[in-house]
Amino acid sequence: MGSPDPFRMTPVDSYDALAASIERSLRSELGPADSGTQLPVSIEHRLHEEARTGELGLAWIRTGIAAISVGLSLWSVFFPRIANSDERANGLAFRALWLVLSVILLLALRRGWYRLWLRRIVPLADGAMILGGFVLLWGVPRGGVSIVPPAAVGYIGVLCGYLAVSGAMRLSHSAAQLSAALGVAVFALAAAAARLPLIPSLGIIFTLVLLGALGTSATRLVRRVVTHEVGRVELSQRYATAREAIDAREEVLKIVSHDLRNPLSTIAMSADLMLEMEMSGEQRAKQLAVIKRAGERMNRLIQDLLDVAKLEAGRMSVVRRPVDVPALLAEARDLLAPLAADKSISLETRTDDGLPELHADADRAQQAIGNLVGNAIKFTPKGGRIRVRAEASGTGIRFSVADTGSGIPPEQLAQIFGRFWQADRADRRGIGLGLAITKAIVEAHGGRIWVESRVNEGTTFYFTLGSGTPSGDGLPAVTKTAERRATIA
Ligand code: ADP
Repeated sequence: MGSPDPFRMTPVDSYDALAASIERSLRSELGPADSGTQLPVSIEHRLHEEARTGELGLAWIRTGIAAISVGLSLWSVFFPRIANSDERANGLAFRALWLVLSVILLLALRRGWYRLWLRRIVPLADGAMILGGFVLLWGVPRGGVSIVPPAAVGYIGVLCGYLAVSGAMRLSHSAAQLSAALGVAVFALAAAAARLPLIPSLGIIFTLVLLGALGTSATRLVRRVVTHEVGRVELSQRYATAREAIDAREEVLKIVSHDLRNPLSTIAMSADLMLEMEMSGEQRAKQLAVIKRAGERMNRLIQDLLDVAKLEAGRMSVVRRPVDVPALLAEARDLLAPLAADKSISLETRTDDGLPELHADADRAQQAIGNLVGNAIKFTPKGGRIRVRAEASGTGIRFSVADTGSGIPPEQLAQIFGRFWQADRADRRGIGLGLAITKAIVEAHGGRIWVESRVNEGTTFYFTLGSGTPSGDGLPAVTKTAERRATIA
């Protein structure tokens, strides 16, 4: 042998080149990786949701308090003791307005409406209502002397206490501080307006300050718990996603090392032979045919891997256009009949009359039919028969591929649409991706796929396109359908 040929690639070189080309291809088809959910965004989102729930809880309490206030005002209208009739009427109207506003807010929150500015506006409105209601009824001392009964002092003290701690439910420091300050301020203003005795009022104000501080630290505590909890959930989700990605990579590596290395070695060996041996034209053609077949097999495997990668990234897209169904089946027959004929299997296609118009991705539909017929050819013995049929089903079309092959045992039917699943792991004619891809194609069209099979008699795969639901038969989800329809000979 002379000096090394610069154009000759060793299997290792070509393997690296192939790996690089697969990577390029995957990257161009799949685009940049999804950066995943941002942790701070998740935490804020969770806090927002919790604050909405808290605001709803407060709305219920407020509505209850406003209803009690209205009730008490009505009581004072019917059993007047101190206030004159104008003051009683004003007090009642004011509290009734508070009740109406409370009910409106409650209904809006129950329907899912929520805005961040509610954290400021609602406590301010609450404070104004508590103060207004109190001052209207009791705020004008007679002859400089307080006319407020102890029960009313107790009542406004409780309301201000509610106001001081309510901010804790809004899960924001500023909202908690605002509510705490408002609780104290409202009571101080009410006490000043009604000339309440100083010392007991200071005692209540001090208690309200403590309640406000408690509310603020409760907010801090809840925020810390939510942050930890969201972080924990997010991390375990990321771990699960990473685990899945590692498993999928392992699977792909296995396939690349097994299934792509073999045809690649075949190509390298045939090329070596052609370079090193004198060959007749016929021998060269034979070697080139071997190389071509190995190349085609590699191409098919890479295409399947790309499809599965797209499927997992949720990017299996279909472009719907009107499809000529008889032409679709005729093309499938032209493509697949030679393969079937190689095994003395007859391949028939039939398109029923009066089919509805089909809007689908013709290339993907052809791929689905091709996968099913390819399997039928693989698993049907010599002399068998395969029938492909398109018939109307509801507003769509039902395709079926029926073979007279080995059949699938019922206990395997639930698995066959899974990725990398094969009844016989050693079957190197495929890698267990065909049905997963076919299912993804059908589902991307809004259709469904299912199977009926009898061991040693044959298998029929059905899928619908054009309409999501085959009419009338009320089929459940795919795997369950497969299980339910399974019958053993
Ligand atoms: P593969 O490309 O390896 O065949 P598929 O996802 O297309 O992968 O099929 C998965 C498995 O389902 C096959 O390995 C085979 O065990 C079973 N299977 C699929 N189609 C048929 C069929 N028509 N008859 C019998 N078994 C089938």
